[in-house]
Amino acid sequence: QDQETAVVEAAPKQLYINGQWREARSGATLQVLDPSTGRTLCRVADASEEDGWDALRAAEAAQQEFAAVPPRKRADMLMRAFELMHERKDDLALLMTLEMGKPLADAYGEVNYAAEFFRHFAEEATRISGNYQTAPAGNARFIVRREPVGPSILITPWNFPLAMGTRKLGPAIAAGCTSVLKPAELTPLSMLALAQVLEDAGVPAGVVNIVVTSTAGKVMEPLIRSGIARKLSFTGSTAVGKKLLEQCAEKVMRTSMELGGNAGFVVFDDADLDQAVEGAMQAKMRNSGEACTAANRIFVHRSVIEPFAEKLAERMGGLKVGRGVEDGVQVGPMVDAKQQAKVKELVDDAVGKGAQVVLGAETGEGEGFFYQPTVLKEVPPSARMWNEEIFGPVAPLTPFETEEEVIEWVNDTQYGLVNYVFTHDLTRALRVAEALESGMVGLNQGVVSNPAAPFGGIKESGLGREGGDTGIDEFLETKLIGIQM
Ligand code: ADP
Repeated sequence: QDQETAVVEAAPKQLYINGQWREARSGATLQVLDPSTGRTLCRVADASEEDGWDALRAAEAAQQEFAAVPPRKRADMLMRAFELMHERKDDLALLMTLEMGKPLADAYGEVNYAAEFFRHFAEEATRISGNYQTAPAGNARFIVRREPVGPSILITPWNFPLAMGTRKLGPAIAAGCTSVLKPAELTPLSMLALAQVLEDAGVPAGVVNIVVTSTAGKVMEPLIRSGIARKLSFTGSTAVGKKLLEQCAEKVMRTSMELGGNAGFVVFDDADLDQAVEGAMQAKMRNSGEACTAANRIFVHRSVIEPFAEKLAERMGGLKVGRGVEDGVQVGPMVDAKQQAKVKELVDDAVGKGAQVVLGAETGEGEGFFYQPTVLKEVPPSARMWNEEIFGPVAPLTPFETEEEVIEWVNDTQYGLVNYVFTHDLTRALRVAEALESGMVGLNQGVVSNPAAPFGGIKESGLGREGGDTGIDEFLETKLIGIQM
């Protein structure tokens, strides 16, 4: 308890603009809650439009000079930030658990994952390359050079409050772009602590600016529409992503969009059932189900669905639910009352339409926004969760008979982020992986996210890829210099 109070007290709670820590000009603050108790943790500065403009102007003013910083120096800043995140991992993890609810073990996992983006992009910063080519007619040369796209607006969600930030800041800094980052208002403390890390790692004033606000739409829209920023990178819901794309159209801004998902998880009859259950635990329960990569529909071949359901219910029923800071807790609360209510609504809807409850289907008792790990079976296509992200610890099982049928069902959604396939038949694995409409497929594994691999979706799940060897391209322009010889 003392440690919790101490880490919250020591955490930065002001806006970080142009290298300065400062209150909002209006003096307004917003409250940050602990979702495991529903009580206020602290208050942080709440930016209005004028603070947003200060941040964007700072990013604009710093852009030219930062683009000229040698790549090795930018790489060194990122490596130093990577090291500092490890040095401060206890505080970063505790702060994240307190404001977001995820179990401490998951928070440590995220600090590590988040830091890896800095290391990955530190390594990429010095590898930005170009081309020198003879024109087909032989009379000219093409020189192709990569340049930073310019000041960038970065908007991140609450479910991975650090990693969704480093996944954008890493390539932005590596590429030589300045930025205004707006974290989710539910989880600002992690991002402000990260700003402190970047400042201490030697990132110059104005290069990274953090604006926390309770009025995201009002503050961000004029900044986006101004065209001063040349890039928007967003992770969040498809609904908000679509609005932002419209705003970006006005000045033809570059965009990267990581939006919603509706992952299918397919278990064929020849799969190793224990491995499939393990994969489902990861794909479903990572981050207590609050992930856009979470298995949202689990399709199991009819001949193995009974033992699969039994094993999964046993594993999920054995999970310890509670405050993320407590020893051994594996499932934390939902991030807020709204999210808790939505999970309940989706489960009640499915049960009303004929789904059978194998486990759970109840909210937690007492304070905090808990929902019990839940397994449903015979979930029909008419259930809302067939096409809406659950974002909670709920595993809906549906039996299937044939490969064709299950491919059609998995693809029967406007989303296309990730799907998972479990089978020991190699050709079937590849055939199905190719047929599934998604940016990523996990074969016999329940997690695909890795800083060194391209993350992103197709259809309404988004545009562009983060991480991997193309993540930095999202923050680079290609310039052709043609010369007559
Ligand atoms: P979620 O359902 O995960 O909360 P959102 O898309 O609502 O997803 O939120 C993701 C991020 O987008 C958050 O930082 C949120 O504050 C921000 N956001 C929400 N609405 C807008 C908007 N109209 N303009 C800009 N940012 C927004």
